[in-house]
Amino acid sequence: MTTVLAIGTYSDTDRAALENELAPVFANGPGDIAALPEDQRRQIRALTFMGHHPLGGAEMDLLPNLGLIANFGVGYDAIDVAAATARGIKVTNTPDVLNDDVADLAVALLIAQGRQMLPAADWVSSGNWAARGNFGLARKVSGGRAGIVGLGRIGRAIANRLAAFDMEIHYTSRREKETPGWTYHADPVSLAEAVDYLIVALVGGPETENHVSKEVIAALGPRGIIVNISRGSTIDEAALLDALESGAIAGAGLDVFLNEPDIDPRFLKLDNVVLQPHQGSATVETRAAMGQLQRDNARAFLNGDALLTPVN
Ligand code: NAP
Repeated sequence: MTTVLAIGTYSDTDRAALENELAPVFANGPGDIAALPEDQRRQIRALTFMGHHPLGGAEMDLLPNLGLIANFGVGYDAIDVAAATARGIKVTNTPDVLNDDVADLAVALLIAQGRQMLPAADWVSSGNWAARGNFGLARKVSGGRAGIVGLGRIGRAIANRLAAFDMEIHYTSRREKETPGWTYHADPVSLAEAVDYLIVALVGGPETENHVSKEVIAALGPRGIIVNISRGSTIDEAALLDALESGAIAGAGLDVFLNEPDIDPRFLKLDNVVLQPHQGSATVETRAAMGQLQRDNARAFLNGDALLTPVN
């Protein structure tokens, strides 16, 4: 009897591991649940979920015996956790195992933007280096002033890396935290005023929507570079685009956007951005660890054991 539903586009390795460990029925997205036969839907007790399409109460109600949603990823803003809790459904995620990769990418975006690595690479690849002469000067990143918006697991991993670049570390969080002497700012405008580099590492969802507001972007100023590895929703994207187009800030390194993968075409015309297709955790090693943790949570639930990384 199939008691597990696996939603998402899993790698071949993860799909094989899911089949081996949990023998699930597969579906591409939440929109496919309704098409499953009713007797099959009734048997489902655990759902392994991957993706960013919303999973809400209406979809949960199609699975009357569902007890667990095991998310692939630390960010679970696609899942209506309040709706799950109201139905007695537990939610798990995959924290910590991806901190290094997401922090590495944040630093890479910061340096790629600051050191103008994309236009400089193009200078060479175009074959015109000899004809055009030397590429212009970029800006120094080491020793600069960095501001972390959201000093959680990933935010702290980013701050640790930037501290090793001798950067002055500032941060904002809902409350001051134990740090090695980093400067706390109660609000993101005060943080942006104090730094040149703003790195966003917040959770997504309605509570943090546009947390990096038009005012925060303005406070960063014309030397400012914004890096976002959190969710597109955490920044006022229209204000960010305006600031990038007008030169109100210097540039951005972005891994996340509104309406992925159909991002705002205004991004495609900018020459002061480094854009990534939501690659924060996308390495072979980390995705394997995330898949393992997701399956371990599902197995723990089915065996009646304590969940490893519960959300609600
Ligand atoms: P975390 O440890 O829970 O940290 C989240 C941060 O968000 C904390 O600093 C927290 O503030 C802040 N926050 C939460 N709710 C807030 C609210 N209502 N108002 C203001 N701040 C709030 O999470 P994490 O493991 O670092 O992950 C952070 C996020 O990164 C994930 O949720 C996900 O969206 C994103 N992510 C992206 C990728 C990618 O591929 N680009 C990969 C993994 C994760 P406090 O410090 O005050 O608690």
